[in-house]
Amino acid sequence: MFTVLAASGGDIIEKAGAIKSPPHFPCCPFCGSLLFQHDSEKAFWAGSKEYEETHPGYIALIKWLKGKCFKSISEAAVAYEAETGIH
Ligand SMILES: [Zn+2]
Repeated sequence: MFTVLAASGGDIIEKAGAIKSPPHFPCCPFCGSLLFQHDSEKAFWAGSKEYEETHPGYIALIKWLKGKCFKSISEAAVAYEAETGIH
């Protein structure tokens, strides 16, 4: 699943959700998939800016994705285009 829960604002992964039983891995509150956290928000955005150079609109998509859950990035892109009209 493709979920962006903490793209900005200093959110921490543990606040997003967790499985009730051990081993208490943080999980997506929408689909239950495991969440992954970047070590550095600064590094995350630096990588996003680099990707944006060859994929214009990527950063806007990532910002729009915050708090949403999709089965894939391509499914997210379809929903993004339907809602915003931006391709
Ligand atoms: Zn999810």
